[in-house]
Amino acid sequence: MLIGPPGVGKGTQAKLLMAEFEIPQVSTGDLFRQHRRDRTELGLIADKLMELGQLVPDDLVNKMVAVRLALPDCGRGYILDGFPRTLAQANWLDNYLAETNAKYPVVVISLAAERDELLKRITGRRICPQGHIYNIYTQPPRVDGVCDVDGSRLEQRKDDTEEVFQSRMKVFEEETAPVLPHYRSQGRFAEVNGLQDVAIVTHEVLSQLARLRSGSGSPPSASHGA
Ligand code: AMP
Repeated sequence: MLIGPPGVGKGTQAKLLMAEFEIPQVSTGDLFRQHRRDRTELGLIADKLMELGQLVPDDLVNKMVAVRLALPDCGRGYILDGFPRTLAQANWLDNYLAETNAKYPVVVISLAAERDELLKRITGRRICPQGHIYNIYTQPPRVDGVCDVDGSRLEQRKDDTEEVFQSRMKVFEEETAPVLPHYRSQGRFAEVNGLQDVAIVTHEVLSQLARLRSGSGSPPSASHGA
């Protein structure tokens, strides 16, 4: 599970981890964007909330996640990106994993970063329709506005504006930050500085994962304050 504020690099790291472990990325933001493109009922509800930087109601998100996690490609595990984002979602996930006798325990990486740097990342972010992610300041494509991988035109997400960022940050601080102590208290939790070079972040995430998966995660009371 990758948790962190908007623009910290969850999507970028999730894609790299997906390739490393050959398990799917389950990004609730991407699932909502797909619903929006497909003009489903859920997509229409999510559309307005996403534009405002607000969260989609927990019951709708949870139902969507349950459908996604039941697909066969999640059988060997998966990378949760952008979920859970509230304590209610975290509690729902705990129950869901217990009820479905999940084979693998949750391992949580919190990607941390300062607000000013995140703003720059958000406003500089460009994405191709297939999901490849760039940043005009920190990770520009070789040709301006064109995806290095598939040559498609890069776009800016509708919610990647300064105004929506401020609202998403507020939501993160009020709703998502309380999820961190929830998982920290369960062990299997590590924090990585998300502002480093992408490759360094990946390296640190992988070494934390190796440590946590071997069962030597820090006990709830160790080093990290709530
Ligand atoms: P993201 O791509 O993760 O930044 O998500 C984009 C938007 O989708 C968010 O600002 C929310 O409006 C919505 N969203 C994504 N994940 C969740 C979630 N777990 N709970 C509620 N809303 C979500």
